[in-house]
Amino acid sequence: MTDQLTSRVAEVRARIERARESAGRSDPVTLVAVTKTYPADAVRSAVAAGIPDVGENRVQELEEKVAAVGRREARWHLIGHLQRNKVSKALPLFDLMHSLDSHRLARELSKSAVAAGTPARVLVQVNASGEESKSGFAADEAVEGIARICELPGLVVEGVMTMAPFTDDERVLRQTFARTARVQEAAARQLTGFHARYLSMGMSNDFEIAIQEGSTLVRLGTVLFGERDA
Ligand SMILES: *Cc1c(COP(=O)(O)O)cnc(C)c1O
Repeated sequence: MTDQLTSRVAEVRARIERARESAGRSDPVTLVAVTKTYPADAVRSAVAAGIPDVGENRVQELEEKVAAVGRREARWHLIGHLQRNKVSKALPLFDLMHSLDSHRLARELSKSAVAAGTPARVLVQVNASGEESKSGFAADEAVEGIARICELPGLVVEGVMTMAPFTDDERVLRQTFARTARVQEAAARQLTGFHARYLSMGMSNDFEIAIQEGSTLVRLGTVLFGERDA
């Protein structure tokens, strides 16, 4: 697996570079390898191929892979919706959570982080497309939502995340990413407790557009590991 992955990583990094250059950007873009549905070996291969950041969307699977690979062998990103009853289980397993999508979850996470004595690093999820099926704060309410989250103890808010609609319509994708980038900029300008470290946007089918619209972190699965089984 590692050999094929190494060449795919090189290709993907080249595409990331080209997208950055086309947008005239010089700031770095972090690559997170999304290993969901793949075995723990995918995590080891990603690390061996030079990607120390891996993403999982389910707590159960995250837990299994952390146990198999080792908590300190990779930087673990929780990128999927977290149920409130799984907060204390999830907390010690991730380095950065991308999917803080409600105040109720934020309060639960805050409580658990304070009790554990370790701050939780989070990104706030923005539903920039307005799709019913997507969780997160509506774009026009997101800055206010982030402000309230920043007031909670035990949380370090390091940016925002979005998922674009599943479409090839470049205009829709651009709009979604640009809207999210504006939330990040407004939050950075207005909120003292907000650290604009990561703008997490872009998946296999849209990451170049996301980078052109300002993404500093892309979450890629398919383009690295191949299609997942349904
Ligand atoms: C699965 C997933 C990804 C990766 O998707 P690909 O299309 O395989 O690159 C990125 N972000 C989130 C939140 C995901 O659930």
